[in-house]
Amino acid sequence: MRYLIPRVRGIIIMPAKSVAISFILVLLLSILNPVNADEIETTLIDENTLNCEGIDSLEFDGLRANQSVSFQVGLGPRLPGSNASKALLESFMENNTAWNWTLDKHPYADTNMTNLHGIYTPNVNQTDLPVIILAAHYDSRDRAERDDDENRTDEPIPGANDGGSGVAVLSELARIVPTLGLEHEVWILLTDAEDQGVVPGMLGAKAWAQDRTQEEIDSIHAFLLVDMIGDADLQINRVYPPKVGLSQTDRLWEAVDDLASSLGLVKDVPACDGSLGIDIVNTDVLDGVIDDHVPMLEVGIPAIDLIDIRYGPNATKWGGYWHTHEDTPDKVSAESLAHVGRILELGLRQGSWLMEENATLQDDVEDKNEDASQYDAVVSFVVFSAVGAILLLFGILHGSVRFKP
Ligand SMILES: [Zn+2]
Repeated sequence: MRYLIPRVRGIIIMPAKSVAISFILVLLLSILNPVNADEIETTLIDENTLNCEGIDSLEFDGLRANQSVSFQVGLGPRLPGSNASKALLESFMENNTAWNWTLDKHPYADTNMTNLHGIYTPNVNQTDLPVIILAAHYDSRDRAERDDDENRTDEPIPGANDGGSGVAVLSELARIVPTLGLEHEVWILLTDAEDQGVVPGMLGAKAWAQDRTQEEIDSIHAFLLVDMIGDADLQINRVYPPKVGLSQTDRLWEAVDDLASSLGLVKDVPACDGSLGIDIVNTDVLDGVIDDHVPMLEVGIPAIDLIDIRYGPNATKWGGYWHTHEDTPDKVSAESLAHVGRILELGLRQGSWLMEENATLQDDVEDKNEDASQYDAVVSFVVFSAVGAILLLFGILHGSVRFKP
């Protein structure tokens, strides 16, 4: 709704001094008020283009992320307790010194499993900051039970996509997050032992989730898991659990859809650059996936999983190169890594992952302020116009005021 406030026109000659002063006041206030109306209009236009803000500033580098995939696979299988795992975590910490890293160890078989937990705290004078978590499993599977070669099904897989791609996206984001000027914390969680054994047990994520205090859980606005998102033939659908209809996770999927739309990653939806989107993200399709986000949901953390469960061209659900020796770096593309990395980075830049309570509160405050300023503008216009009209009438009746032709 817009209020347009007309200006008083015409030049008035008034011999009576007091009448003249009153009239100048009326004119000034009437002229000043339309500024409010202009400001209101600008605010509405900004809200309509919100999701396009920050796209030109995105820094996520898909090629650099892709190099991480090759590096990881080159280390050998990242099995719990292995030297490859240690080397991966060490390089992750060394490359990102703005983060406060903790090695979170738990007993596993005859060795340890180790989650890597990193905290980035912005330089603001405030405690109890909201937390956004970016997570991926970094272990690679200890067996290739779906491989065609029956003689090699008990050998560890390369894990370029399954394990490698999620870590690759997070390594780029770890580099970028400290440059974003955020006013909340970001945690990175690299989980161990997600994909080991006959039935993958998400053991690292379970142990980490169980160790969280209620205070920590309450501060977490989003747990964003990325897994198997490097497929050159990328297709990300909505994942359950969480079921549809839970406000805290519905809002995260809605944010994914909005961000992907803005970036041109939703089929036929016009993107911010005016192009029609391609079919990368489709939150209208549901895939059931048990992954590291599930232990988080079980302790009350709003968690979603960005994952492509159809690995390879024309792959069926849980088919293609998944859990085979074909899960190699050549099946992963820099472009796919960049699609997912840009969704996450843009969401951080726009505050999309923060809880609606905060956003709603902020919106409510802004709406009230806007209503108040519009109301003030109208009231002052009506009051001063009425006073002006009375004075004018008074002047005309006494023959002391006339309009210049
Ligand atoms: Zn796996």
